[in-house]
Amino acid sequence: MRLILLGPPGSGKGTQAQRLVHRYGIAQLSTGEMLRAAVAAQTPVGIRAKDVMASGGLVPDEIVIGIISDRLDQPDAAKGFILDGFPRTVPQAEALDELLKKKHMRLDAVIELRVNESALLQRVENRVAEMRARGEEVRIDDTPEVLTKRLASYRSLTEPLIHYYSERRKLLTVDGMMTIEEVTREINRILAAIGAVEARAAKKADSAKRTAREAKTQAKARAKTGAKKAAGKAGTRKAAKAASGKAAKKAGKGAKAAKKPAKASRKAGKTASKAKKTTRKAPAKSKARAVGKTRKAAKKVTKRRAKR
Ligand code: ADP
Repeated sequence: MRLILLGPPGSGKGTQAQRLVHRYGIAQLSTGEMLRAAVAAQTPVGIRAKDVMASGGLVPDEIVIGIISDRLDQPDAAKGFILDGFPRTVPQAEALDELLKKKHMRLDAVIELRVNESALLQRVENRVAEMRARGEEVRIDDTPEVLTKRLASYRSLTEPLIHYYSERRKLLTVDGMMTIEEVTREINRILAAIGAVEARAAKKADSAKRTAREAKTQAKARAKTGAKKAAGKAGTRKAAKAASGKAAKKAGKGAKAAKKPAKASRKAGKTASKAKKTTRKAPAKSKARAVGKTRKAAKKVTKRRAKR
């Protein structure tokens, strides 16, 4: 799968790109990230790019085209990629067409994340606050002044790409004002519709996630109730805690397994139902084995107490 994510700063390209990478195992080629790494490593490219980036301008085309050309030749890009932040100008898009042609690669789609400009400043402010809270270094171009300049450059230089790709029948537009989850779902739906991913794979991954979440919640609830009953029988709170903890852990494991996309979905169903069964066993009202276990636990507690 070969995609381009198009959208102004703060439209959620980075977030969605990461989700696609995670789900489909393709490479994220972010020119912004690559340039920031070059600046940090003080490479010749980084030295040239530093001031332009800090002021919100665009790094010369020949630099970014060179970076992308090299990156496309790396083995991880062979499986597919998402371009995030490139192309940013019509000449860059033309250069990309040439590069792909030479490398015998075909673009599947260009996904435009359309957002309300008035929301962008707030989004970038939130991103800055979150990065600070995590103790991460904040981008020097994430200030209201530089953002205004980045937006202006998006409008004049990058927005023409919407027309460029729509003429070439590659453009697909997604409402970027929805929640992160909804945008992801919509992108997956689109990718399935154009045949870039197997429709069943996209659907399965979604339903597996949902099943896992539901199973986890249900199993936890059952474990709690069950453990309380067991505690009543054994006459100890500690036994209840142990039973509840074990059952909830098992349920959690089942749910975690289900998070793995597509092919894991059937397995996840099984694990989740296993988890359910396990938690049903936890109360162990009528099942002699489980009662025995609970009693053993209770005995241990009594012994420990007697020692004290
Ligand atoms: P944004 O969140 O604004 O989309 P990026 O992380 O993609 O930012 O890029 C940060 C900066 O890196 C840009 O403002 C620009 O200076 C430079 N840059 C990134 N990609 C390109 C590109 N394709 N062409 C020119 N400059 C670029």
